[in-house]
Amino acid sequence: MCFKNKPRIFTWTLDGHKLEQVNQIKYLGVVFQQNAGRAAHMRMVADSAKCSVVAINRFFRTRGAGFIPAALKLYSAKVIPQLLYGIQLGPYANFDMLERIQSGFLRAIFGTTRCTSNVTLRMEAGLIKIESRAWLLIIYFWLRVHLRLVGLIPQFLSLNPQPQWCTVVSKKLAALGIDPEQLLELDLSNAKRIVKQRLADIELQNNQASLTEFYKGVRTRWDLSPANYLSHITLSKFRWAFTRARTNSFPSALLAGRYSGVPLEERYCRCGSGEIESIEHILLSCKLHRQPREHLILPLVCKQTDRSAEQLVKYLLSDKNVLNFNSVAKFCYIAFKMYNENL
Ligand SMILES: [Zn+2]
Repeated sequence: MCFKNKPRIFTWTLDGHKLEQVNQIKYLGVVFQQNAGRAAHMRMVADSAKCSVVAINRFFRTRGAGFIPAALKLYSAKVIPQLLYGIQLGPYANFDMLERIQSGFLRAIFGTTRCTSNVTLRMEAGLIKIESRAWLLIIYFWLRVHLRLVGLIPQFLSLNPQPQWCTVVSKKLAALGIDPEQLLELDLSNAKRIVKQRLADIELQNNQASLTEFYKGVRTRWDLSPANYLSHITLSKFRWAFTRARTNSFPSALLAGRYSGVPLEERYCRCGSGEIESIEHILLSCKLHRQPREHLILPLVCKQTDRSAEQLVKYLLSDKNVLNFNSVAKFCYIAFKMYNENL
């Protein structure tokens, strides 16, 4: 009997020594499979990246003092190279396993639950998808191969039919709206700049389509840099409260109702006003927070008389003005403490 999906066993010898036939082998840190697939290599890079994420999270909660920019620097220097090791050989069929590692890391350092989407966390941190980064490296490598014809590269490129790797990259470039032939007429640095810009533009477009209107309202810049407040609110408890308010996932009756199945129109605040406990209500009108509001919020909005309540919330939760967001972050933390104490 012969199973179709089982590799055929051969007897190999070299100088009289029997060679073992294996399904996969690791060479220079890359796992090669007998069927030319990439799943085994992806699992290996995912495992090593997970270990680094655990170590960074531990540092973040101890000596890192909950400072997100430091954790992001470590992540970019250590975890991303691990996730993308050997990616130049070609993309994976599915990047979900690697995207989950990035999302899990962001969720841990921001201290958010599932109610905040992965795309929102990436925008806050100024990170792009692992898949986009992977394509950037693959196309850079493709450019170097074509623009620096040394060694066996000319023979490789003249193979007929064309190597599958070249076909895959050409298709991706076409999907990005870039003509491979025209790209190769440029010098390496210009060609790389164009590819990087196109991938960033597409990432931003896709993000914009997925983000909530609330988050788009508090976002002051539309680029892929981390939110300004992350570097300026140094106390992690204040920064955490501000993130939760900005991402519309502030602990409240509104949020709790999403999990307990309470209808939206019945998620009332405990203050007895009969209003839903939204972030707008907490920041602007809830009588439970009147005292901290007088010191921390009213001085910021007293001259904004022409703005609607919705516009005031966006103004208060934006990351433009350091003094503003530090005050709002402190207010949010006090409001959270009160909510938590009365649960
Ligand atoms: Zn209230």
